[in-house]
Amino acid sequence: MRTGADYLAAIDDGRLTYFRGKRIHRIQDDPTLLALAHNTAREYDRFHSPEPGAINPLLVAPRSPAELRERATVVVTIEETLLATYLALMSMKSAAARLPEPFAERARAYVDDAVARDIRIAQCISDSKGNRSLPPLAQPDPDAYLRVVERRPDGLVLRGAKIHISGASLCDDLLVMPTKAMKPGEEDYAVACAVPVSAPGVVVVNATTYPEGGDPEDHPVSTRSALTEGFVIFDDVFVPHEMVFLDGQVEYASTIVHSLGPWVRLNGVSRYVRQADELVGLAQLITEANGLERASHVREKIDEMIIHATLLRAGMEAAIAHAVESPEGFYFPDELFTNATKYLGAAELNRMVRHLHDIAGGAIVTAPSVADLSNEDTGELLRKYMQGSEKVSGEQRLRLFAAIRDLTASGFGGWNSVMNLFSGGSLFAQRLVARKHYDMGRARQAALELAGLAPADPSVMPAPVAVQPVDR
Ligand SMILES: Cc1cc2nc3c(=O)[nH]c(=O)nc-3n(C[C@H](O)[C@H](O)[C@H](O)COP(=O)(O)OP(=O)(O)OC[C@H]3O[C@@H](n4cnc5c(N)ncnc54)[C@H](O)[C@@H]3O)c2cc1C
Repeated sequence: MRTGADYLAAIDDGRLTYFRGKRIHRIQDDPTLLALAHNTAREYDRFHSPEPGAINPLLVAPRSPAELRERATVVVTIEETLLATYLALMSMKSAAARLPEPFAERARAYVDDAVARDIRIAQCISDSKGNRSLPPLAQPDPDAYLRVVERRPDGLVLRGAKIHISGASLCDDLLVMPTKAMKPGEEDYAVACAVPVSAPGVVVVNATTYPEGGDPEDHPVSTRSALTEGFVIFDDVFVPHEMVFLDGQVEYASTIVHSLGPWVRLNGVSRYVRQADELVGLAQLITEANGLERASHVREKIDEMIIHATLLRAGMEAAIAHAVESPEGFYFPDELFTNATKYLGAAELNRMVRHLHDIAGGAIVTAPSVADLSNEDTGELLRKYMQGSEKVSGEQRLRLFAAIRDLTASGFGGWNSVMNLFSGGSLFAQRLVARKHYDMGRARQAALELAGLAPADPSVMPAPVAVQPVDR
């Protein structure tokens, strides 16, 4: 397995990457990208085992609902590029069982090789998409969706862009797949493959909400959780056949992305569950620091947040309890519970954040920095006037405001809000999948019975039970 140092050396490979208008020749040369790469490196060291042949245990697919539950709670604590890799490899394992040969065999070989080499993989799904109402062939620019522009005896040449790609500049490989189903005639767009970030023609333009200056005291969340998002351009990139997992088979265009969906959404749901508890906890702590535990309107808001957090947890538990076994013996979360819960988490996040802001007060955005506590002129005065309730020190209250600001009212907070809405698909996508899996027949039958338009369905009546006389 790699160490953090091995990883940092591996990404020093001349990749073509840009940040804030400049060409970055080495990730190590830019302090922000380097800080983010260090987060990845630290995670390598956390999982490192010197045993020959050791692999990261997270990259083995869960084989029971219990393992799936354990995985769902662990993945919310891991660093983002490892998470992206986990999701990419799980989806490839699932897809391999559905793809035709020789693609299935190549996909399996790729997964085994990626696990053995302990590399990091970014998921390259979202195309630039041009005019959203037009399919690929009707776009004024034929490159709006990534496509094959040349087929050579030894491989393919790709052109297009995949955008919003989390961790692209910090990973080894890009796992490319179509963003949607394709139709006959759209064969050039039905392409899936793995491409090294350093392949000639790959250009990554980075964006990040990692805080300027990066003081973890003031940014306890974003310094750990911010990522670089990549706008990845494929400027005629050659991909050898052995790395191609789909080439022109339109009927399989959505196989990989559909295999990814349940994993991404279960991960989204697990994050919402964790995040909802964090928001409730912050609301309670800042209420105590403000001395308002007994104020009824504050309690009501926290109660609402508690109910939201509990419903999300119930949805996650249901998704795991109803996990489905694949033909290969892997366990996937139930699609309906996963999607409905993800929808609830995404749609209601901003209301929960509004409650937290309302409870906490304006110091979320106006409180001085933690460093001001160390200044000999201002430190003691800030401690004195930052104090609310006598039970909580001024310093603790200031640090709570810093955490709330960083999580919900900073550049990172804005990123988190949009990420919650879109990662794994928009609200519309959750609605579509929920409708697809919901038992509409059951709902129609219930409504028909209610309206007196159909007799009660005998299959839902409880079976009669023979009652034994009780000798009193
Ligand atoms: C922080 C973050 C990280 C991400 N990480 C990744 C990643 O690592 N890899 C990756 O591949 N993607 C990633 N994504 C992309 C994410 O999956 C997309 O944002 C999501 O699929 C929506 O696509 P879009 O942003 O292009 O919005 P759009 O597709 O433009 O959607 C905007 C709105 O228009 C609606 N809409 C779009 N098309 C139509 C249509 N034809 N008819 C009706 N309504 C329509 C949508 O439902 C939505 O309401 C990430 C996104 C974010 C925000």
